[in-house]
Amino acid sequence: MILGRWNSLSIESQKLVQSYVEKCLFCEQKKMTGIHLYQSLICTDCEHEMLNTKTNDIKYKFYVQKLKNAHYAQQRRQA
Ligand SMILES: [Zn+2]
Repeated sequence: MILGRWNSLSIESQKLVQSYVEKCLFCEQKKMTGIHLYQSLICTDCEHEMLNTKTNDIKYKFYVQKLKNAHYAQQRRQA
């Protein structure tokens, strides 16, 4: 289950902070730093926003959908 692991994932992923420019999965802006999830970048700003988003917030669904898409894309790559 992805959602219950956001916090622990975030902490684990701190090791994976990259220093080159990539497009963020959520805001689609090119950012220098962030975490990698399923080979997608989530910038530091969006990561913080995601972690602070309540489950009843409309944005939560947006984040969940984006994460699902990234997850399925990763599975297709491995298949
Ligand atoms: Zn972002």
